[in-house]
Amino acid sequence: MPPIAAPIEKPANNFDFEGFLHGAIGAAFDVEFDHIGFWDLRFAVADSYRAGRVFIAGDAAHSHPPYGGYGINSGLEDAVNLSWKLAAKLQGWGSEALLDSYDLERRPVFASTARFFIEKSILDDRDFLRAHDPARDKADFEAAWKLRQTGATAEVNAFEPNYEGSPIVIGAHAGTPSAIGSHAYQARAGHHLAPHPLSGGANVFDRLGDGFTLIDLGSDAARTKPFVDAAKSLGVPLTVITDTADDGREKYQAELILVRPDQFVAYAGDDCDADALLRQAAGVV
Ligand SMILES: Cc1cc2nc3c(=O)[nH]c(=O)nc-3n(C[C@H](O)[C@H](O)[C@H](O)COP(=O)(O)OP(=O)(O)OC[C@H]3O[C@@H](n4cnc5c(N)ncnc54)[C@H](O)[C@@H]3O)c2cc1C
Repeated sequence: MPPIAAPIEKPANNFDFEGFLHGAIGAAFDVEFDHIGFWDLRFAVADSYRAGRVFIAGDAAHSHPPYGGYGINSGLEDAVNLSWKLAAKLQGWGSEALLDSYDLERRPVFASTARFFIEKSILDDRDFLRAHDPARDKADFEAAWKLRQTGATAEVNAFEPNYEGSPIVIGAHAGTPSAIGSHAYQARAGHHLAPHPLSGGANVFDRLGDGFTLIDLGSDAARTKPFVDAAKSLGVPLTVITDTADDGREKYQAELILVRPDQFVAYAGDDCDADALLRQAAGVV
């Protein structure tokens, strides 16, 4: 069955969609159309995710060919990043700088998702089909196809959206926000907190507060009090979790971990100026 070329522009009313699908599959089959819609298959990213009081997220901010399930995930991550900053503003402690950090953190993450994950997958598939054509060498194609079935392990391991270099992340200024990273238990500024049970058995995620959370694995009240005082004077909501660095929690490799409302680590270390740190993490200028 000869393939019909895919229309580049929106096809004419009399375009043969049935013939197009039969050609793509290489065999005739029954098909019914309930609705035919059109959608631009392209990479696009807004110049800015904010214009004054208006913020955009999800496909309104960025679009790409559907590949690898990155679409809805990117939109949900935008929403999680933006929502606590909007809430902070509405609660009276969030600054304009905090709202600006939404664009600074999320736009580069999408740019690298598009470039290094979606575009790369499309090019990898093209190269695969060029190198392994079943019409040319069926055995070679089947062997190569079997190898592919082990999954996209390298892609999954490398995809770790993070906000290194963000102005509201402390101590990770070498990097830039990006979708490329690695997965680790270590609490790293700018990266999502890894889950781990607390000594009572609850998962740490179940104990994080709605605002910031300070995890104190040194059980040192003298060290946490300046944070509690600073949070009170800045009006920043702060929950304190006190525990020990035992039973696997030592893998966080830090005794003090300040976690943002979106479960990303703002700071991880052992010693710091609580007031300055909280001001920066909360975008208080
Ligand atoms: C063919 C295809 C396959 C895909 N497959 C996947 C996949 O497997 N995995 C994945 O993660 N993603 C996939 N995606 C991408 C995913 O669907 C989108 O990234 C996701 O739906 C974006 O969500 P959104 O809420 O940002 O935008 P949308 O889902 O577009 O929602 C926007 C809503 O706003 C409404 N709206 C627009 N203008 C107005 C207005 N003026 N007033 C009121 N309402 C308005 C629209 O009707 C729509 O309901 C696919 C996309 C396509 C097209």
